[in-house]
Amino acid sequence: MSAVEDPFARRFARQVRFAALGAEGQARLQRASALLVGCGALGGSIAQALVRSGIGRLVLVDRDVVEESNLPRQVLFEERHARESALKAEAAAESLARIGGPTRVEAHAAHVDASNLAELARGVGLVLDGTDNLETRYVLNDHCVEAGMPWIYGGVVGSGGLVLPVLPGSGPCLRCVFPEAPPPGVLPTCETAGVLQPAVAFVAALQAGLALRILSGAPLPTPRLVELDAWDGRAREIELARDPACACCGARDFSFLRAARLQRATRLCGRSTVQVRPARARPDLELVARALDGVASDVRRSGPILRFVIAPERFTLFADGRALVEGTEDEQRALALYDRYVGA
Ligand SMILES: [Zn+2]
Repeated sequence: MSAVEDPFARRFARQVRFAALGAEGQARLQRASALLVGCGALGGSIAQALVRSGIGRLVLVDRDVVEESNLPRQVLFEERHARESALKAEAAAESLARIGGPTRVEAHAAHVDASNLAELARGVGLVLDGTDNLETRYVLNDHCVEAGMPWIYGGVVGSGGLVLPVLPGSGPCLRCVFPEAPPPGVLPTCETAGVLQPAVAFVAALQAGLALRILSGAPLPTPRLVELDAWDGRAREIELARDPACACCGARDFSFLRAARLQRATRLCGRSTVQVRPARARPDLELVARALDGVASDVRRSGPILRFVIAPERFTLFADGRALVEGTEDEQRALALYDRYVGA
């Protein structure tokens, strides 16, 4: 894309002049996409930065509604959103659309967990943490380490915050730094310790800056944990090495994903049969049947049901994606067979 052809060339003239980004980096950014989990305080500021900078596609997910107490620091929301208890994902998409520019925003009002993360993150080059939830962050960490995808952790409470880019093959992952979640109530939260808007802006700015660098294809810095404080006006870098014994990036035991995967499979009482639910979309029975040609035996379609045998197990697949796997009591095995022959 040359500067003459790009309809947004004039809009982005100042940031293209920044040599480390340049026209080529900007063109890459306009073709790049990212998943942003949470669009409240951190997420709203990050979304605004990326849309104003011209990212190509931004996938937003948030399960929450706007409240009055959000307004001091959640930059995409206004009083009317709080009055209407608007869904944050929808209110954010509406505010971002008013900025204009080349970005395609896809908003989902949903809770991100291991069952839908892979689908939401499909095709993106980066995942950004705008959540306030440690459990979700461990799921993001597991998914991104397993997929070899960069993600950027950000946390804020009171006047301070933390930022850590987790890059494939370089530096620590979140579980190298925080191996276990402390019990609820141990860490201060925005409910107990409060939170200031400048601290949110500070953390979000570091996350967005790293995001621009990753998405524009610029060389990356050595990943470091940055601790900052907007009240004291200080930031410091903490050098952390990867932990070779880390359960996630070392042993590649993705327990936060596995727990959710196992919930998809249920052993049926009194029969050697496991019921498996689909990971996300319903399968197309016709396509599944065609793909099984020469692989499975006894493939039979009767209306909304597809039956087939992968010896010794016998499958009954329903149109809603649910399957009964007869001939095993092993949930892991049934899941693996399902994902292999029906689709993950
Ligand atoms: Zn690790």
